[in-house]
Amino acid sequence: MEKLQAVRGMHDTLPGETPKWQLLEDALQVVLHSYCYREIRLPIIEKTELFARSIGAGTDIVNKEMYTFQDRNDELLTLRPEGTAGCVRALLQHGLIYAGPQRVWYQGPMFRHERPQQGRQRQFYQVGAEAFGMEGAEIDAELILVCARIWGALGIEGITLQLNSLGSHRARHSYRKLLVDYLSAHRGELDEDSIRRLETNPLRILDSKNPALQGLIDGAPSLLDSIDAESAEHFAALQDLLDANGVEYKINPRLVRGLDYYNRTVFEWTTDKLGAQGAICAGGRYDDLVTQIGGRATPAAGFAMGLERILALLECSGAEAVAGAPRFYQVMVGADAVNSGFRLAERLRDDIPGLPLLLHCGGGGFKSQFKKADKSGAEYALILGADEVASNTVLIKPLRTDAEQYKVTQEQLAAEIKRLL
Ligand code: ATP
Ligand code: MG
Repeated sequence: MEKLQAVRGMHDTLPGETPKWQLLEDALQVVLHSYCYREIRLPIIEKTELFARSIGAGTDIVNKEMYTFQDRNDELLTLRPEGTAGCVRALLQHGLIYAGPQRVWYQGPMFRHERPQQGRQRQFYQVGAEAFGMEGAEIDAELILVCARIWGALGIEGITLQLNSLGSHRARHSYRKLLVDYLSAHRGELDEDSIRRLETNPLRILDSKNPALQGLIDGAPSLLDSIDAESAEHFAALQDLLDANGVEYKINPRLVRGLDYYNRTVFEWTTDKLGAQGAICAGGRYDDLVTQIGGRATPAAGFAMGLERILALLECSGAEAVAGAPRFYQVMVGADAVNSGFRLAERLRDDIPGLPLLLHCGGGGFKSQFKKADKSGAEYALILGADEVASNTVLIKPLRTDAEQYKVTQEQLAAEIKRLL
């Protein structure tokens, strides 16, 4: 029979790879919790309307990237392409959004039907943070500082923070007119994608990766020239806070982001080490989203980072992820050794929670068990044969050095392992 394969663009994370994911996730959590962001866990499926209303009908995500289906009750549902919309929906539904300022974070798989390539999957993982109820630029600054601290914790260097302000929705709307006028006057120079976007989402043309369009884009009116005075003040306050905290950034008046809900601050952390998929984290302010989803106006801001790209960046900067190998491999030869070895191992696990101890299963002589112990990557073999059972001892054999093996009593073993750890 033909072998079944995973869906294109959706990857398995094999046991050899999960330790580096866990390390990454742990590092992210430590930083997020240190800023008092609390985890929220959300459904992977939401009503399609949620995304249509929030991300925006003219966006690439809603137009062509969503996994949408009808369930058995003919309800139109979508695998979430991002986390913000669901997060707002949940906080609204449970009345948390008006219960004072909220800081939450989430993690999990997102789904977009894009062309799969390096750093671009159809199922990918994000960690995101969202803050609600805070209007001032402090929270925008805090979110950026959270990111900066995450990069520091992971040892990631050489990435750039790009920053822009989209102004109020009204300012953006008038800019949109200016831009459409400018681009329409140069219609002949636009590519097919941009001609389509001219009607649906003209700001997104500024984001085009087509080199042939760069001259035209550089000549476009600047968004920053048309933002409203209040937004300009907000943007200046954000820059002051970033300056005061030593965060470097580049103002990029062409940075627009692909989702309609943003206003004022938008930012993106990028690297040049991952080719075309250089954005590792993106975010901004979205003060009108809560209203769009049916709530009362509530200021909000957040970011989302792509975990695959962060891992790829860690790998190309040479950071070694710790393998999930056992530290101890228990060799047990003979039925008596298996019996007393199991009880011994359970006692060890009681004494040393989290001890990475692997029990040999499947019998065999010393030689074949040592081979497996060696292959497991463990540092020590704990050996139990008939002699050890009779004398209530264990033989400890270092597997990665030339040091001699030695005996300890079973009562001493936990203390000895703690010493070795
Ligand atoms: P891009 O411009 O690369 O398509 P985006 O603007 O669509 O990114 P966001 O929706 O802001 O990205 O998502 C935040 C982060 O999630 C991105 O910066 C990126 O790291 C990651 N990401 C987005 N789409 C994918 C994908 N298809 N595969 C892997 N990671 C992704
Ligand atoms: Mg995208």
